[in-house]
Amino acid sequence: MITIEAKKFLVVGLARSGIVCARFLRDRGGAVTATDFRPIDALDEGVKGLKDLGIEIEAGGHNTETFLDSDMIVVSPGVPMSIKPIRAARDDGIDVISEIELAYGFINAPIIAITGTNGKTTTTTLIGEIFKKSRKEIFVGGNIGNPLIEYVRSGREAEYVAAEISSFQLEGISAFRPKVALLLNISPDHLDRYPSYLDYVKAKKRIFSNQRGGDIAILNADDRLVLEMGDSLEKMRKIYFSKKHKIEKGVYLRGEAIVSEILDETHHYSKDLFKIKGSHNVENIMAAIAATEVCGCTSEDIKETVNNFEGLAHRLEFVGEVCEVDFYNDSKATNIGAVEKSLESFDQPIILIAGGKDKGTGYDSLKDLIKEKVKTLVVFGEAGEAICKNLGPLTRPFKAHTLRDAVELAFSNASHGDVVLFSPACSSYDMFRDYEERGDAFKGFVRALKHGTDQTGKDVHEGRGRV
Ligand code: ADP
Repeated sequence: MITIEAKKFLVVGLARSGIVCARFLRDRGGAVTATDFRPIDALDEGVKGLKDLGIEIEAGGHNTETFLDSDMIVVSPGVPMSIKPIRAARDDGIDVISEIELAYGFINAPIIAITGTNGKTTTTTLIGEIFKKSRKEIFVGGNIGNPLIEYVRSGREAEYVAAEISSFQLEGISAFRPKVALLLNISPDHLDRYPSYLDYVKAKKRIFSNQRGGDIAILNADDRLVLEMGDSLEKMRKIYFSKKHKIEKGVYLRGEAIVSEILDETHHYSKDLFKIKGSHNVENIMAAIAATEVCGCTSEDIKETVNNFEGLAHRLEFVGEVCEVDFYNDSKATNIGAVEKSLESFDQPIILIAGGKDKGTGYDSLKDLIKEKVKTLVVFGEAGEAICKNLGPLTRPFKAHTLRDAVELAFSNASHGDVVLFSPACSSYDMFRDYEERGDAFKGFVRALKHGTDQTGKDVHEGRGRV
């Protein structure tokens, strides 16, 4: 556990988790300064209350002196560890940790930690739901919205903690040791924040770094990088899941059923009964089955929960049908790995809407699926041009100015039975506050089409005979 009293702390990043960290450290007798590069007026209301508690605020930029004068620095998930003052502090031997590392020292319950490039929120939510069904008290948090430090501060003592963990959080751990650690998949992402793909992969691997005998690693055997990583893990029990192969003492697909052999008794989960779409969600369900079975949830409770799970908004979310064209909102698909899985989920011809803020990963790996499945590609936003250049020649490309234009262009090029899939492969920050605002905007534009008019007031249903 970290000693707080009479130590000097610096909290970097004043969004939700930074504010709670600062309060927590102050409550426990630390001398706390908090800093954010944004000016004070742009910060959350909650920052104002910090001053009254005796917390120093340095807003509108970072002062390297303050970093070097601290005993410990706690970095929020949104702040890259690579910024200059953090590097200077590390070089000076100052402890730099992430919020989960701080929280970890004060958590008594076993932690189930979930990471991977995609599927974290879906799997974490599902695990939480299964525990609730099993009447086991669980705190569900981390990246998903409730920082772990909030749980610590509340004084609550749950039986388990399920935490969605990003690679950024993992960069700042030293003792963080989950009882159960899940690595769902790895594909290129965040290359705008990492010097190389290898650095991103290494950050993900840190989830296992403190696990020992008695701990459990749950790994995707169909993902080459995850499989390789598994080979190098030694101390903990490893449970693999696969859609492609039978796995001894693991979780795998046989025909239409997921088979789990991880306990003495084998359990079967019929895929036909799942409400949620997409073969990637079968992977998420397999991972959740493994995690909850090892924690003592019954197969009856697991079945009932997974069968009724409808998935989350903005993740391959069915929005509605207009003139026999189905619209799906996948605004959370902010990287190519997620788009790949979404494209694989449909048998119908797809009109793909993509674009937003480029994340530096390129789009090459989508080429085969674009050729095979996408009849029309509509691009928009900052990355539109680059996507069009790369993938446009493989299909019929259109460029749109706005997301609304993109939706209308997609619809006017769609035939009965097609799918319009909004799976952007980019982050939203060029035009929207976040992926949720972007997804809500998409849904609004689809609703407008459903009501029959486009931006110019033209009846969009007119003349749409069977094509
Ligand atoms: P995360 O929290 O890791 O971003 P989400 O569950 O929020 O994951 O899903 C993000 C995006 O990734 C969505 O577009 C979703 O359809 C897609 N996705 C979900 N699970 C997987 C998976 N196992 N593999 C690939 N893509 C996935």
